[in-house]
Amino acid sequence: MAERCIFCRIVAGEVPGDIVYQDEDFLAFRDISPQAPTHLLIIPKTHIISLARLAEEQQELAGRLVILAKKLAEKEGIAERGYRLVINCGSDGGQLVPHLHLHMIGGRRLGDGLG
Ligand code: 5GP
Ligand code: ZN
Repeated sequence: MAERCIFCRIVAGEVPGDIVYQDEDFLAFRDISPQAPTHLLIIPKTHIISLARLAEEQQELAGRLVILAKKLAEKEGIAERGYRLVINCGSDGGQLVPHLHLHMIGGRRLGDGLG
């Protein structure tokens, strides 16, 4: 069997994750090293290495990912005060896990900088 990335292993249930939402196409779980009171990782279940590998044909998937984030922010109770969505892409972008993921960070006042 081909070796799978850590997020694919969470999708497959091979590695435990603090899962807050899932459907046929997406999974959302709490970051193991949260940067704020709410720190979710929202991923497509399909293994897309990074934003750079997202295809034109996956436009609908990308749009649904963002809409899902918005809904989860409401569910987490941070929608009103605000939050930040971040996608790290590639090494300069600070991407460590090679599976496209959206960070949803909130629950405290975040810094002004973006790094
Ligand atoms: P990146 O730097 O790739 O954008 O972010 C990867 C994120 O995944 C980091 O915030 C890191 O804490 C988180 N992470 C890495 N391994 C695991 C894991 O096994 N479980 C969970 N829940 N989060 C992880
Ligand atoms: Zn993967």
